[in-house]
Order: sequence, then C-alpha cells, then structure tokens
Amino acid sequence: MTDLPATRIEEFKKGVKGEVILPDDESYNTARKVWNAMIDRHPALIVRCASATDVVRSVNFARNNGLPLAVRGGGHNIAGTAICDDGIVIDLSQMKAVSVDPGARRVTVEGGATLADFDAATQAHGLATPMGINSTTGVAGLTLGGGFGWLSRKYGMTVDNLLSAEVVTAAGEVVRASATEHPDLFWALRGGGGNFGVVTQFGFQLHAVGPELLSGLIFYPLSEAKSVLQQYRDFVAKAPDELSVWAVLRQAPPLPFLPESVHGKEVIALALLYAGDPTQGKLLVEPLRKFGKPVGEHVGIQPYVAWQQAFDPLLTPGARNYWKSHNFSTLKDGLFDAVIEYIRKLPSPQCEIFFGAIGGATARPAPDAAAYAHRDAQFVMNVHGRWDDPADDERCTRWARDFFKASAPFASGGVYVNFLTADEGDRVSAAYGPNYDRLAQVKRKYDPENLFRVNQNIVPA
Ligand code: FAD
Repeated sequence: MTDLPATRIEEFKKGVKGEVILPDDESYNTARKVWNAMIDRHPALIVRCASATDVVRSVNFARNNGLPLAVRGGGHNIAGTAICDDGIVIDLSQMKAVSVDPGARRVTVEGGATLADFDAATQAHGLATPMGINSTTGVAGLTLGGGFGWLSRKYGMTVDNLLSAEVVTAAGEVVRASATEHPDLFWALRGGGGNFGVVTQFGFQLHAVGPELLSGLIFYPLSEAKSVLQQYRDFVAKAPDELSVWAVLRQAPPLPFLPESVHGKEVIALALLYAGDPTQGKLLVEPLRKFGKPVGEHVGIQPYVAWQQAFDPLLTPGARNYWKSHNFSTLKDGLFDAVIEYIRKLPSPQCEIFFGAIGGATARPAPDAAAYAHRDAQFVMNVHGRWDDPADDERCTRWARDFFKASAPFASGGVYVNFLTADEGDRVSAAYGPNYDRLAQVKRKYDPENLFRVNQNIVPA
C-alpha cells in the first residue's frame, strides 16, 4: 500500500495523542467509509486527531514522506475527497467542540463538528447562522465551499458569516485568518474549499433565530407540476428574505400526513421555512396552498433544530449516490418540461431533483468579495441519483447525466463546488468562476507544492 517502513509509522503513532488506524486494525473498514457508498478507497493510515497539534504532526508527516493527504470533516462530500488511496487521512471527527458567546453572538467550532453539533449548541441560546439542510453534514466542508440552507436568503452564504479560521498550513504552521490577519487566506477560505490548509477552528457571526419557527411541506401531484413550478417561480421572485421555499420532485415517501394512495407516486413538494415571526409567516405562505390541489401538507410551528433534521431519514449515509448540479439565475418553462419528463422515468425510488432557492442576501455581495463567486445564482439545482444496489449504478448515473444534459441549455454555467462529483474535474474552473486566478495566486503562497490536492483542486499559479 505504501513504501513507508513500519518503524516510521510506529514512531509517528507515538507522537500522536489521537488514534492512528492502520489497514490491519479492526476499525479500519468502518473508518474509511464516507457518506457516499460509491467511494471505496484504501488509505495507508487514518489519523483521528485529538487536537491542532496532531493535525500539525500529520501534515508534516505527509509532506516529509511524500504521502497523498486527505482531510475529513463530516465525510459527506459526494466526490469522496475526505478519503484517499495509499495516503494519510486527517480525520477530524473527534474535534467537534462548539463554544458559544451569546453576548457577542459569536461561536467557535472545531473542524470536525457536524451541523447537528452546531445547531444544538447555538439554538440553546436562540442563535443560528446559515448551514445546510442535513444535520450529519460537516460544518467544515460545507463552509469552505460556500454553504447555504434555509437561513441563507436572510443572512447570506455560510461564508458571509465567517469571522475567522485557525488553519494548519502545508508548512505545518498554525495561522489565524480573518479580515485583518492573513486577509488573502481568509478571502480564499470563503469558497476555495480545502485547498489552503486544515481548518481546525472556525469563528462565525450568529443571529437571533427561533428557536420555534414556521416550516413544513406542501405536496402536489406530478400532473400539476408544471403549473406549480410556474407559480413557484413567480412567488419566490417576490418573497421576502425571511421566506425560503425549495421545490423537490421525487416519489412521495410514506409520510404519515400523506394518504397511502400517494406513497410511492411522483409528486412535487414545496419545502418552506420562515425565519421570522411565525404569525406573519402563516399569512405569507397561504398562496403556496393554492397553486393547485395539494395531496397533503404538514406546515406548522416547530423547533428550528427539528426542521434542520427533517430530511435526515431520506439522506442517511451508506446509499450509492451520484449527483449532477447546475446554477440558475432564472427558471424557464422549457426546464420545467425537461424536469417533469425525467421525473416520469425515475430509475430508483430514492432519486430526486431539487431546486434550492437562494438569492436574497446571498446575491448582494460582489462576486469577488469572497472566493465564493456565484452571486448570480438564484437557484441551485441538484439531480440527486440515489440507490442501494450496485447493479443499478449504470442505469442511475445515466439518468442523472442525461437530465443534466437536458437541463444545461437553461443553466447559468456556474456550479456549486460542494455538489461536484468525482468525475467532474472539467467543471472545477466553472465552480471557482472568475475568482480562479486569484485563488491560484493564494494557493501558490500557502501551498506551493499542492500538498492539499485531494479536493476540487486549485493548481498553484
Ligand atoms: P468531507 O467529505 O469531510 O470534506 C469535504 C472536503 O472539504 C475535503 O475533501 C476537504 O477538501 C475539505 N475539508 C473538510 N474538512 C476540512 C477542514 N477541517 N479543513 C480543511 N478542509 C476540509 N451543502 C450546502 O451548502 N447546503 C446543503 O444544504 C447541503 N446539503 C447536503 C446534504 C447532503 C446529504 C450531502 C451529502 C451534502 C450536502 N451539501 C450541502 C454539500 C456539502 O456542503 C458538501 O458535501 C461538503 O463537502 C460536506 O462537508 P464535510 O465536512 O461533511 O465533507
């Protein structure tokens, strides 16, 4: 697997406080698994770091021994970049501390925390910042790619709320990046992915949110999907920043509030959250119920943390997944026809196509304010191919790729870096967009030898 002498690995192990997992260890096969079961890589060693000191040791060990190096936050990345073959994995899953300063409305988060860790600690004080929609996702990978979720229209991308980061660089130095310390690095971290070092700690701005908010789902049959999508587009264009409504097309899961006759049938679901006074929200969402004849709905006041976990059962780790994604600045009728055509031929009951409506505060900063460049994206679409049996790999990936092609004429050309699959190396420059050259300059300064290259890679200028 690697030419490293066993004695050198033993010596390294002695200097690490956390756990070092080797191929012969019982926990190896579990430790190398990530969210997407399509990823099957065999690292030479996995270091479950206990502290930034362990991270420094691991970075130095990788660099000095010429080993490939992968960094694992929550292990969710669809391309499986948390794991590498024959190299070292810096696994941060034991570094999950979240510390809230409610007075200053600030939080510090270690590099291995999940959204569930983050939401639990911050919501204890009625505070939050925009994160994603599935609570087992890692704060680190999500943030470094940009990050968006239910609060983004109101409070911007996750990176727009980042105040500071503690980073272990390729040289093994611990540096702090913020608006006033290493500002070039701070700019690059806000959308440039894991290219610039290992982030051991993030500092975020928090906002008063909930803890009880209006949220829920409204379902329509696929026969009404075109009209629902047209009305959805017009509704979202006028919606206040507090209101986020996403559209998901898929087979209806067996949810208790849906009649049994609808279970397993193709539907369009509108998923919503109002990040303000629920009474006001109730009035605002009323038109969403009149887009046609709903087949079921579940909308009400519930804890924000519960809504943050509402989709977890559909997104459990261990399934096979293949994604394709486009950004859109507007949604055209021709796109709706293509979506409906492909939902009629879903290759597995778990596949879906969703439109995440962002816009609002995510669209206001200049495209070069941070490395995340896609301020023109009003909608992020994800074609989510998902199935269990490896025998379906070809059929399901073909469906996702074919719909991706059919929808391309309507797309803006940009793509969210965190949704890129392992075979999309040719879209990396579209993902970093006009900021690529500046990112390549920063990369040359902080990682000239491209030690951090198991990612959507920026080649040093
Ligand atoms: P990992 O696979 O652990 O890491 C991904 C990459 O990030 C690594 O290869 C590395 O390059 C880098 N990285 C991770 N940790 C560190 C660190 N501490 N320091 C330096 N580099 C690091 N995104 C959204 O914006 N909004 C959503 O609502 C959303 N929903 C999702 C739902 C699901 C079910 C899934 C699977 C993904 C979702 N995503 C969403 C995408 C998500 O942002 C990416 O998958 C992201 O990469 C996950 O971060 P992670 O830490 O879990 O990933």
